Amino acid sequence: MVGQSRSYARSNAVAKTSDRDIRHFERPTRDDGNPLPVSEYFGCHTFGWDLLKKALPEADLDLVREASPSKRRLTRELADKVAKAAKEWALSKGATHYCHWFHPQTGATAEKHDSFFSFAKDGSAIERFTGAELIQQEPDASSFPSGGLRSTFEARGYTAWDATSPMFLMETTNGLTLCIPSVFISYSGESLDEKTPLLRSLSAISESATEALSLLGETDLKHIVSTCGPEQEYFVIDRSLHDLRPDLVLTGRTVLGRVPAKHQQLSDHYFGSIKQRVVNFMMECEYELYKLGVPCKTRHNEVAPSQCETAPIFEFANIAADHNQLVMEVTKTVANRHGLVALFHEKPFSDVNGSGKHLNWSLATDKGKNLLDPGEKPHENIRFLYFLTAVIKGVHDYSKLLRCSIASAGNDFRLGANEAPPAIISVFLGQTLTQVYEMIASGKELDTPESEINLDLARIPIIARDNTDRNRTSPFAFTGNKFEFRALGSSQSISSSITALNAAVSAALTEMNAELKAKSGGQKASDKQALEVIKNTYQSVKAVLFEGDGYSEEWHAEAEKRGLPNLRTAPEALEALKDDAISNMLVTQGIYNKTEELEFRYNVLIEQYNMLKLIEMETQQELVASHVIPAATAHLSSLSQMLEGMDEILDRISPTQKKAYEAFVTKVDHVITLQDKLSITIEKAKGLSEEAARGKFLADQGRSVMEEVTEACNDLELHIDDQLWSLPKYREMLFSL
Ligand code: ADP
Ligand code: MG
Repeated sequence: MVGQSRSYARSNAVAKTSDRDIRHFERPTRDDGNPLPVSEYFGCHTFGWDLLKKALPEADLDLVREASPSKRRLTRELADKVAKAAKEWALSKGATHYCHWFHPQTGATAEKHDSFFSFAKDGSAIERFTGAELIQQEPDASSFPSGGLRSTFEARGYTAWDATSPMFLMETTNGLTLCIPSVFISYSGESLDEKTPLLRSLSAISESATEALSLLGETDLKHIVSTCGPEQEYFVIDRSLHDLRPDLVLTGRTVLGRVPAKHQQLSDHYFGSIKQRVVNFMMECEYELYKLGVPCKTRHNEVAPSQCETAPIFEFANIAADHNQLVMEVTKTVANRHGLVALFHEKPFSDVNGSGKHLNWSLATDKGKNLLDPGEKPHENIRFLYFLTAVIKGVHDYSKLLRCSIASAGNDFRLGANEAPPAIISVFLGQTLTQVYEMIASGKELDTPESEINLDLARIPIIARDNTDRNRTSPFAFTGNKFEFRALGSSQSISSSITALNAAVSAALTEMNAELKAKSGGQKASDKQALEVIKNTYQSVKAVLFEGDGYSEEWHAEAEKRGLPNLRTAPEALEALKDDAISNMLVTQGIYNKTEELEFRYNVLIEQYNMLKLIEMETQQELVASHVIPAATAHLSSLSQMLEGMDEILDRISPTQKKAYEAFVTKVDHVITLQDKLSITIEKAKGLSEEAARGKFLADQGRSVMEEVTEACNDLELHIDDQLWSLPKYREMLFSL
């Protein structure tokens, strides 16, 4: 039968999932045959400081350390030395190629491989890698997104080595490639990537935080770093089922599909025992990542069926950002080896939780002291409160920028949908710190364990670690010694959020430092003066603090009263890049050279959003036409045959059966009507001349028509003979491992 052949591929794929063997991979072993501990091979594929140290004298090492890709360049001579050492190491490991590995504004990474192989002057074959090739490459930049920058400024772009992130070997089944983490900039200095603004934001925060510490009396610090640990969520499903879903293949998410009766409501998946096939795959991912120097720490099942999470030990922000890209890439590659697909889309399945990324963030001195850790001594607490206040002020003053940093088509499905924080950016501090601020603001002692705080400042707060419950509904929560920015999408690069956060906090510190400097006459400030600045700042930004349920209706109303922005969709949130206050701050902080650069970024992001939405809509259009309607027609035909048979054999048609038939016909008609509506909406969107207007239209009408189509198709899925349905069902994709 026609119908049976349609669903044949699906039932075959389902049968295959249960027959899969667990893939075994060869772990390195000790002489006794037992596996080597991770510490023995951790970072064996990275060209880190330890190797560079062996190759260069200390003075040269310092020069490499201080080199930055956009400002201070290495001399040709020194670059040659580093290149020689890196080449020898890479060749000894079996590498044949090298590439500049960079992050254009596509969310993914890019690479162009060149062979070490070359000819010597005498024509003999050799391996060559020069300092010039290490420091700079000129990929043809014309096909990377630039948002119009290319027509306005210098056309060409180049990649330049970021010496602060170690080179690494990317291993595939048939060879190894030396990857050189790089920035991607235009010849006139505009950034065309994610890494350049990130590096600049690291310099900015280092400068303003060092100034703050010096005013607070700590003058021996060279620089301050920001530290990050991203918790990464994703789904993993069987590849043969995935490949039968054009929507997953093309868009990374299902554009229709009925959630099964049982999904996540029993909370039996969260932290549940990890299925054999999944844990084996995760172990191989970790093995590959350890070799690359990624310090994987945690693995567990997440809330939705087939959803997992992995988190590393935190690192210097720039390296954390590179490593998170590697985590996503390696996870996808290794999944493939196991007959699986790792889905990083924010909402691959509707009606179960989507995936996000929690960005744990803090600031630390070059001596490793965490500036957001309340200290043991009173003075350390002044320092702690000063930085904490700066973070609150940064988030308050630039909340639109932070919201913008997490804006994407995928994340729009999560934010504010009772599974992720709302689109309103607020800060959660916890009970203890809230009381400390109230005390500072009112100048009164409170009747709490901390009431020994005397606000004539002879004694200064000893801040105990807060042991109150975590607030899961807050987008930006203090968690004892770091902040957790919880609203990131699972597929995005963490660079844009780190950049936004560093820049915003640096701007806040700059303002607070100026006030403190004015009070202290540029000298070391007293604790009293610092507390005054803390108090004044707190008073002006406390509207951003919220301790309650971020999911509730009341909070939405309250936030509106407080004047906090609630930018519900990505197109609205991206407008922040056109906001004068924000772009001026980003230029003042040195993150961008000119405010126009922000407009280009806006153009890139809005275009990307629009293209993605149109791809989703056209994919849905195809699924309805080539899967849903044919299945419905086949089902209708078998129903009508049944009714005809009834008429012939019984000489009558059961009125109930006839009614059911008519109800089904109505459902099919409804889908066909919506199919037209979908096509008209797609054409309308394409017809709009402005990208901003198209974005708004797609976020609004586009999304709503897609939801209508989904709902109508899901209703058909429930009523159609299972044998006629060609698309793998949610039940099969989510529960087959
Ligand atoms: P949770 O309970 O939220 O899952 P974890 O203890 O698992 O928290 O930590 C989450 C992440 O926070 C880890 O990646 C961890 O390394 C990171 N983290 C811890 N301290 C810091 C810090 N000072 N700066 C940045 N990230 C940190
Ligand atoms: Mg966490």
